[in-house]
Amino acid sequence: MEYEATIGLEIHAELRTNTKMFCCSANSADEKRPNVNICPVCMAHPGTLPVINKEAVRSVLRVGVALGSRLADYTEFDRKNYFYPDLPKGYQLSQYEYPLVSGGTLKGVDITRVHLEEDTASSIHDDATGATLIDYNRAGVPLMELVTEPVIKSAEQAGEFARELQLLLRYLGVSNANMEKGEMRVEANVSIRKTTDPEGVFGTKVEIKNINSFNVMERAVRYELKRQEELVRSGGTVVQETRGWDDAKQITFAQRVKEGSADYRYFPDPDLPSLRLSELAGFDTATLAATLPELPHARRERYLTAGIKPDDADLYVRDTRFGNFFDAVANGYDVESVLLASNYIANDLVKIFRDRDSKNSRDILSRDSQTNDMLGISSDSFRKLIDMIRAKKISSRAAKDILAEAAATGNDPEIIAAEKGLMQTQDAGALEAAVQGVIDQNPTVVADYRAGKEAALQFLLGQCMKVLRGAADPVALGDLLKKKLAA
Ligand code: ADP
Ligand code: ZN
Ligand code: MG
Repeated sequence: MEYEATIGLEIHAELRTNTKMFCCSANSADEKRPNVNICPVCMAHPGTLPVINKEAVRSVLRVGVALGSRLADYTEFDRKNYFYPDLPKGYQLSQYEYPLVSGGTLKGVDITRVHLEEDTASSIHDDATGATLIDYNRAGVPLMELVTEPVIKSAEQAGEFARELQLLLRYLGVSNANMEKGEMRVEANVSIRKTTDPEGVFGTKVEIKNINSFNVMERAVRYELKRQEELVRSGGTVVQETRGWDDAKQITFAQRVKEGSADYRYFPDPDLPSLRLSELAGFDTATLAATLPELPHARRERYLTAGIKPDDADLYVRDTRFGNFFDAVANGYDVESVLLASNYIANDLVKIFRDRDSKNSRDILSRDSQTNDMLGISSDSFRKLIDMIRAKKISSRAAKDILAEAAATGNDPEIIAAEKGLMQTQDAGALEAAVQGVIDQNPTVVADYRAGKEAALQFLLGQCMKVLRGAADPVALGDLLKKKLAA
């Protein structure tokens, strides 16, 4: 019997607004002191009333436009009732029947909906005392929830989707979406079905929680698929439940049997107005669409169309420092130079900065570091370097050294090349003299070569290069050497 995987994702992302979802308390993920960004509203004091954060609504609608979704006309907020100490009101304000956004796709995965809700407080378990401490700074922070249809077929595809969504949220500037910081949280729903089952028939799903990175998500999904298949093959049945990921043991474990939505007693919040978005100025699709930057998908296509290698295109899309730098270099540059430049950016320049980044342990994808001068070398200087390579004024070996130096110091590549004696000797007389000198000083090697020992040529060429301190075009030098040896 063959089985296949069905996966649907539920992804939460904290929105980067100035204030919380329903009050004026600051929304600051960087606040280290506990319980300072709070007020009577988010602490649920009696007699307080919530006010909807317009920026949060706009953010979710912009995500909807980027996904090609339908934006709601009518929308409302509902109370999701349950008790937990991280939820001061005893209910979470969320959206049930009328999400802000429905439909749409990303990376070929159909989106069910995107809605807006509020985050809970963070609970900190103190192992020493066994106590649980609660920090309400996060309580009431705007939280976007995106739900996909059960159409994902593998752990890898789930990872690819979640990574692309993170990128999109960052491009839109709506969320930092850092998984390790809990700014983006992924829950994976996983089931298996027989390949012979009719379309639309699904197995019982299990929901996996406490996933804190893309890699963990992929591992947890793979583990869970295997567990379900072994269970079913040995005659067991999958129970619908929530399972956690145990990172130490690398397994999923049963946490609780999932509540049905009826248990939450959803109902529209009587303290908040329902919204007719068409009546709100600036919330129509055209106005929102005009606020979107070039999206990751479009940017990737632009590079591929320009003949950039897929891996390099992906790098430029994912790390906009290099993408923006490439764009600046490519702007108005001829096609062949652009392709050569891309090789030097995606290989050599990236390596230089990865080495430096790993020393400073800086997040390579940090959205704070988008400016071109982060790269030390200006796009104009970089073009000078490429021009010198194409004019054969420097060897590719020398180009790498010059680039490293220029990136570190910001100095002009032409000046670096001249100072380090890396300009290839164009002077025919100097080349002749160097080659003749090497031939005169190595009679035995020359004899070996003339007796048919090909390897001797490499040695002689190396000697010539040494005399010229690397400042020669190796091909031209090789030709000259052969010519003289044949004479
Ligand atoms: P629930 O009512 O349990 O919350 P939903 O129908 O709202 O379930 O779906 C929640 C998530 O689970 C969605 O991402 C959906 O695509 C996914 N899902 C639903 N059924 C399955 C299934 N049989 N296998 C895998 N994922 C599923
Ligand atoms: Zn508040
Ligand atoms: Mg649901």
